[in-house]
This record gives sequence, structure tokens and C-alpha cells, in this order.
Amino acid sequence: MNNYAFSTIESLRKALAAKEISVPELIAMYRARAQKFEHLGAVLETFDTDSILKSGTTTGTLAGIPGYIKDNICQANRITSCASNILKNFRSTYDATAIARLKNQGALLLGRTNMDEFAMGSSGETSAFGKTRNPWNFECVPGGSSSGSAAAVAAGLAPWALGSDTGGSVRQPAALCGLVGMKPTYGLVSRYGLVAYGSSLDSIGVLTRTVYDNALVFSAIAGQDERDSSTLSVGQKDYTQSLTGSIKKGLTIGLIEDAINAPALHPEIKKATLDALKVLEEQGATVRLISIKSLEYCAASYFIISRAEAASNLARFDGVRYGSRVPGKNLLEMYENTRSQGFGSEVKTRILMGNYVLSVGHADEFYTSAQRVRRAIRKEMEDAFKDIDLLVMPTHAVPAFKIGAYDNNKLEMDLQDYFTAPVNLAGVPAISVPVGFSQDGKPLGMQLIGPHLSEELIFQTAYAYQQKTDWHTKTPSL
Ligand code: GLN
Repeated sequence: MNNYAFSTIESLRKALAAKEISVPELIAMYRARAQKFEHLGAVLETFDTDSILKSGTTTGTLAGIPGYIKDNICQANRITSCASNILKNFRSTYDATAIARLKNQGALLLGRTNMDEFAMGSSGETSAFGKTRNPWNFECVPGGSSSGSAAAVAAGLAPWALGSDTGGSVRQPAALCGLVGMKPTYGLVSRYGLVAYGSSLDSIGVLTRTVYDNALVFSAIAGQDERDSSTLSVGQKDYTQSLTGSIKKGLTIGLIEDAINAPALHPEIKKATLDALKVLEEQGATVRLISIKSLEYCAASYFIISRAEAASNLARFDGVRYGSRVPGKNLLEMYENTRSQGFGSEVKTRILMGNYVLSVGHADEFYTSAQRVRRAIRKEMEDAFKDIDLLVMPTHAVPAFKIGAYDNNKLEMDLQDYFTAPVNLAGVPAISVPVGFSQDGKPLGMQLIGPHLSEELIFQTAYAYQQKTDWHTKTPSL
């Protein structure tokens, strides 16, 4: 049975259709693996088999295919904790739109994955329920904030998982765990039922081993939703149709020179990115260097905007509307006790920071400047896409780092978002694909970024690349 642990969705569908395995057997296998690899800290809860089977239909593009859900996406009658003590007993009464759509396609939801508390982090270390480890190297982080979703797929606990990406939380852990991670155009996937962090940046995204699988799961969840007025008027479609195996004729790629020549970029990631581009050039793509000047200000802009929005969004966790109440002598003390004991230190720091940058006398200096940078990166990317089809840069600057490595260097941790946050600021789609391994065996990732609603081109290109490489077929020795 364990032969199927690292199977793709594509091959599982065939195995199920040929009756080589049954759905209950598959669930039993993944449940057993979740237990066996509990020490990875990837999974917060695996549901019992009966309730898993009851939740979905038996037909659809994902019929019988199990996957995990990041614990900030609501599943009806299940806990949604955001890996925070303040929500540890919070049970959702409804399905997020993405969840309802997955169930409609027959997908089976195995459980909830660990994450940085309220999706705030880049390493899986800020969860209130224990750190997540990287399946490729247990001493290292899997990236974050969708740490558990990435670790679960990389460790063969499921073939797919949902994550959320506000500043890189799907792409960066995908890169650090050797997976494909897709962050869609802002507004293409409904945020209904996703616990808000930075609402103008948040997006649900998909983690899988292959581009094909990613497009398949993505097709189930993408498209306009009347429950989220920020969704775009784009209907549901089958994104696997764009996977032809070859690249678009005349494809031009802009390699972001400010990224590839960034002093902090690890040489092995630089080399892997350039090698990956050669593979695309051999298929006929033209690559040229392109400068995106505002790139260097994006991490700071993201820092301010995400904290400002987080401070507002997290005001609802007050022990009255949401959150486990910690009593006090009076109302004010109850709020204070609830919020000071319910949130972890990273979340509290961000709420303080967010309120500070929005406060009278500081808003102009910080928030307004940050919005200016946001407009600049949007404009620069829009202009770039007039001449080229896709932009490329690494997903992350360094391979998976040791757990605790940045305990005393928060700035270094915040710089993890350097290559990913610009994409959220601009609201455009991007995919991270595996492009190799470091000499000490850690996965490396590269991003393909496209203009608004260019998901088909992104999938097509990533798929054509993956057909020529075998990075995605490697599995960690656990
Ligand atoms: N690492 C970033 C942060 O800590 C991104 C998080 C995310 O995308 N949810 O805010």
C-alpha cells in the first residue's frame, strides 16, 4: 500500500479506476502515515474514516482523492484553529467556498494542517501547537506559513493540500519542500471562509508534487463566487486543458535582474534558476534580463501593509465575537486577558506594529508610503508585461534553514518574503516549481510570474518545464 504514498493525483485516479486500490484503503494508508510521521508536526488533526467518506460526493474530477487543508480555511463542523490558542476550540459552522467546491468534485478531506499562527511566519515555527519539520531534513524548517500543508505533501501524507498565500506562504514552503505551489491572481479564488490576515493580499493556493495535479485541484476551486464580492467575473474552467507539453510559440521571459543578482541570493539557487531557464530556452523561449526597480522596497511595503490589515482583521478575536474568553473583573480586563493570553508573541507584535503604522501622526510616514510602493510595483509589472509574457525570479533566497536559525534575527526572517511579497502586492499570479537540490540535498524553487489572469500560460510553461526534468519524482528518505 505504501507504494502509493508518493503517487500523484493523476496516477491515483488511474489506480482507483482500475480498482487496484479502493478509496477506504487509500484513506487508511494516508491515516497510518500521518500517525507514523506525527513527529513532523505537519498535521493538527486527521479525521476519522467514516466522516471523511461522508463529506464528499463520489463523482467528479477529484473523486476519491484525499488531501489536507490548512487550518485557516473553514470546514463545516470541524475546528478551524489557525494554529492559535485563541481559536483552539472554534468550530466552523460552514464550508469555505473552496472546500464546498472540492467536496463537489469528490475530493476527500483528510484533516487540518499545522501552520504559523494566523499565517504569520515563514518557517512553521510560530504555531501554538508545535513546530513543523522539513521532510527532507528534520533539523530544518519546511517554510511557512503553510508549513504543514507543504510538509504533508512532501512526506507522502497526501497528494495535495490547500494553503494560503498573503506574502508567499504557498510558494516559499513549496520551494523549501520540493513542491509545486500556485498563488492565483487576486480575486480568482474565493476568500469566503478563509480566515483573513491581510485581506487585500490573501489568496488560497494549492500545493502538489506536479504541475498537472496543481492545475487539476486549482480547476476545482477557481472562479467567481457570489459570496466574495472581490472575486473576478471569471467562470470555472479546466486549467489542465492548457497543459500541452510545449511552451507558447514565441514565449518571452524576463529574468528579474535585481533578483538574480541580489547579493543575498544563495549561489546554488542562482545556478538552478539559470539552468531552469536554459531548459525553457531549449524549447524556444527567449530570455532577457529586466530590471524591476521597486523590488527592493517591496518587503518593507509588504511588512507595513500586512501588519496594518492584520491589526484590523484580528480585532474580532476579542472573546465576545470570536475566541476563547479569558474572564476578568470587568469588560476591559476580559478583553486584555483574552487577547494577551490567546495570541502568541508573533501575532501580538504584528497587531502592535499594525496599529502603530496606522496611528495618527505615523500613517503618512509608513502606511501611505507603503501604498505608494505598492502602486509602483504594480505599474512596473504591468509595464514589463507589455513586452514579455512571464517574469522569472527565485522563490526564496536560501534553501531550508535550521529550526531556530532566526530566533534572534527577526529582520532576516522577514526578508524571507523578499521575492514572493511583490507578487501579492501586485495581485498577479505566480507558481513556484522545483528546479533542483542544493549539494546537501535541500530542494530549490523558482517562480514564474504572469500578468493578471495568466494562470493558463503559467501552468502551460511550468508543465512544459517539468516534462523535461525529474526533480518532482524525487522523494525524501524519511
Ligand atoms: N512570511 C509572510 C508573513 O509572515 C507571508 C505569510 C503569508 O503569506 N501568509 O507575513
